[in-house]
Amino acid sequence: MSDKVYNTVIIGAGIVGCSVARFLSRYKGSFLVIDRDEDVCCATSKANSGIVHAGYDARNGTLMAKYNVMGSLMYPGLASELNFKFRTIGSIVLCLDESDRPRLEDLYNNGIKNGVAGLRIVERDELKELEPNVADEAVCALYAPTGAIVCPFDATFALAENAARNGVEFSFDTSATNIERDNGRWKITTTKGILFCDTIVNAAGCYSDVFHNMVSKDKINITARRGEYFLLDKTASGHVNHTVFRLPGKMGKGVLITPTVHGNTIVGPTAEDIDDKDDVSTTSAGLDKIRSQSSLSIRDLPMNMSITTFSGLRSHEDGHEFIIGEPQDAPGFYDCAGIESPGLSAAPAIGKDVSDMIASHLSLTEDPAFVPGREKPVDPLQLPADELKELLNTRPDYGRMVCRCEYITEGQIRDAIRRTPGARSIDGVKRRVRAGMGRCQGGFCSPTVMEIIADELGIGISEVTKMGSGSEIILGENKRL
Ligand SMILES: Cc1cc2nc3c(=O)[nH]c(=O)nc-3n(C[C@H](O)[C@H](O)[C@H](O)COP(=O)(O)OP(=O)(O)OC[C@H]3O[C@@H](n4cnc5c(N)ncnc54)[C@H](O)[C@@H]3O)c2cc1C
Repeated sequence: MSDKVYNTVIIGAGIVGCSVARFLSRYKGSFLVIDRDEDVCCATSKANSGIVHAGYDARNGTLMAKYNVMGSLMYPGLASELNFKFRTIGSIVLCLDESDRPRLEDLYNNGIKNGVAGLRIVERDELKELEPNVADEAVCALYAPTGAIVCPFDATFALAENAARNGVEFSFDTSATNIERDNGRWKITTTKGILFCDTIVNAAGCYSDVFHNMVSKDKINITARRGEYFLLDKTASGHVNHTVFRLPGKMGKGVLITPTVHGNTIVGPTAEDIDDKDDVSTTSAGLDKIRSQSSLSIRDLPMNMSITTFSGLRSHEDGHEFIIGEPQDAPGFYDCAGIESPGLSAAPAIGKDVSDMIASHLSLTEDPAFVPGREKPVDPLQLPADELKELLNTRPDYGRMVCRCEYITEGQIRDAIRRTPGARSIDGVKRRVRAGMGRCQGGFCSPTVMEIIADELGIGISEVTKMGSGSEIILGENKRL
C-alpha cells in the first residue's frame, strides 16, 4: 500500500460505496474505495429484488423516505448517462381482503405525503386489466406508475467504472480491521497495510455497525436479515407485467413477484433475522414459504421454471432507519449504515448527498475534467448488420458464442475483464455480461470462461476462481493423458 494520504477512503464497494465514489469524483481530490472481497458488488448489492421503489412505503419524515424518493427520481437520468439497464414498469400492492383496505389507504396517504407522483387505488376490474393473473381474492390495489426495475450489478459496475474513469482508485481483497485518529487524520488498518485519510465513508453494509462503533460512543446495532429467492427462466416472462407486492408487514414488504430487466421473473424474498452476517444459504423452509405466499398473490405461477435460488442479507438497524452522515463525536467519519431496503433505490441520492457533505467539509472544488458518462459495453446482438460486420472485421472474437443461454460472445467476456475495475473471476464475468446467468447456470460455458480469464490475466487455469481466493475450481488432476 502506498504512503499517499487520501482525502477520502470509502469502505465498501457495494452500490452505496460506489455511488459515493462516483459523485465524489465530480470534485478534485484523492479518493480510494476498499473492499474485503475481490470485486465490486459482491455482497447485498448483488442479491436483492432489483426494484427501484416509488417511495410510498418508507414512513414519511424518515431518511429512508427522503432518499428513496430522491433516488427514484434520479434513476432514469443516471441510467441513460451511465448506460445501465433500467425500466419503469409500475408496481402494485395487492389488498386481498376488504378488511385490509384501510391499511392500503394508509400506504397511499403515506406515499402522497412522501411526494410520490401518480399514485392511485385501483379496483378489481382495472387490476385484472393490469395483471390478468392476479389472484381471485384480490379486491383492490395501490398502483404506483413510477415503480421501476434495474439491474443491480450493472448499476453498481456503471457507478464504479465511471468513478474509476474520473480518477477514483479501487483496492480489492482489502479488509479494514481498525480505525483510529492519528495526528489529526484517520488511520485505517487493513489486511494490505495502513492507510491515512482526512475523511472516511462507512459503506460496509452488514458490517457498518462495527466501524461506526469503533469511532463513536453512540453505539448502533445491525442485524443481518436474510431474504431468499427463486429466479425463474425467461420462458416464465409475461406472467406478471408489474412488480406485484402484498400489503407490507412488520418484517418488510413480504413476498413479491417481479419481472427483471433481463426478462426473467424473480419471486421472494423471505425475511429472517440471523446471527451470521455472511450466511447466504437458502433453506427448504424459506423456499417453501415463498411458494405458498406467492400463490396467494398470482395464479398459476410457473415455479417449475425455477433456474436457481439465492439469498441476500439486509443490514437491518435496530431503529429501522438509515444512518447517514457524521456522528456528533466523529467529525470526518461519514456513516452510510443500516442501508436495508430501499437502499438500492436510495443509493444515487445517498451518494450525491454524502459526497456533497464531504466536499463542503474538505472545501473541495469541482473538477472541470469530470466526465459524467460511461461508454455502453458492446452487445453484438443489438448492433445493426453493417456495424456488426465492421466489428467482426476487427474483433472476430465478438463472433464466437460462449454462453449459449444468454448469447454472450468471447469478445464481450474479454472486454469485461479489460474494463476498470474489471472481472477477475467467473462470478465477476457473470455479473458483468451474464455469461452463466441463463438456464444452464454456467454448466456449459464455465470451462471456456475460465480459459479466457486465465488468458487475459496471464494466470494458470488452476488459479482461476469462482469468486476470489479460496474458491478455485480446479483442485487437482484425476486423469493424465
Ligand atoms: C433480500 C433483499 C432484497 C432487497 N430488495 C431491494 C429492492 O428491491 N430495492 C431496493 O431499493 N433495495 C433492496 N434491498 C436493499 C439493497 O439491496 C441494499 O440496501 C443495498 O444493496 C446496500 O448496499 P451497500 O453498498 O450498503 O451494501 P453491500 O452491497 O453489502 O456492500 C457493502 C460492502 O462492504 C464490504 N465490507 C464489509 N466489511 C468490510 C471490511 N471489513 N473491509 C472492507 N470492506 C468491507 C463488503 O464486502 C461489501 O462489498 C434488498 C436487500 C435484500 C437483502
